[in-house]
Amino acid sequence: MADSRTPPEVDRAAASRRAVAARRERAALKRDVTTRVITPQELLRRAQSDPESPAGAMRVTEFLTAIPAIGAGKRDRILASLGISPVKRLGGLGARQRVVLAAFLDERWPEPQPRAGRSRLIVLAGPTAVGKGTVAAHVKEHHPELLLSVSATTRSPRPGEVDGEHYFFVDDAEFDRLIATGELLEHATVHNRFRYGTPKAPIDRALADGRTVLLEIDLQGARQVRAAAPDATLVFLLPPSWDELVHRLIGRGTEDAEERERRLKTAKVELASQGEFDFHVVNDDVARAAAEVVSLTR
Ligand code: 5GP
Repeated sequence: MADSRTPPEVDRAAASRRAVAARRERAALKRDVTTRVITPQELLRRAQSDPESPAGAMRVTEFLTAIPAIGAGKRDRILASLGISPVKRLGGLGARQRVVLAAFLDERWPEPQPRAGRSRLIVLAGPTAVGKGTVAAHVKEHHPELLLSVSATTRSPRPGEVDGEHYFFVDDAEFDRLIATGELLEHATVHNRFRYGTPKAPIDRALADGRTVLLEIDLQGARQVRAAAPDATLVFLLPPSWDELVHRLIGRGTEDAEERERRLKTAKVELASQGEFDFHVVNDDVARAAAEVVSLTR
């Protein structure tokens, strides 16, 4: 007769596979916190709402060191000062411990609070490959009441791109003229190559008509719009997870190792700028993300 205390071989193999999968999920979540794809507070909320989830099973020690700027020494001092044992898992924290840990995180790394009185000028930015263009195209197709700004660029049209619809394709001399005459709200050289800029006049007209205007531009452009129009609504598009962004950035892995490293480094720097934005929208589903962007100025 089988000994009931020893699980059969198959059960043990399945349990060990589950343990490996759970460890992998916790590691992915830690990467999300380290790269700022999710806030530590968001991870804590997930742990609280489902203590059995990978977030809930994470040890407080692992959680804290996933946060940039916290090393082992600092982690231990924080846990001691909050009165939390290092063996605790996030899902197993007591009510008081959850409150003090959340308060500590809020004080050190406040989550963005949407500012009131934002205008109908929406700037959509985010890390490369997060899908800004796809979300903007979805908004354009399903919400014709919004104006999707058409930028000027010095790059050549790609197959299928129409002048005046996707971009105004101009040469360097014309781009210089647009800058000199103050016709651009912002302009930047993107990926060290071509210049891109947002024509001001169509935006002013649409805003005067009470329409919402959407700009899909890079981070440098978003910062310039904030400076020129401080009441603009700045939206940062986030990937659902760091691993998903890596997947979208690297795709089929046709780039060499150096190019892959360069892209990942850029993405980390870009993600670190999200604190400058009024709203964060997760691009987990294009239609849903587009609907959320549109709802922001309603
Ligand atoms: P693409 O050449 O692939 O269409 O666009 C390259 C990048 O240029 C995208 O990240 C896009 O957000 C950015 N971009 C497009 N138009 C503008 C613009 O008018 N201003 C700025 N600053 N960036 C832009």
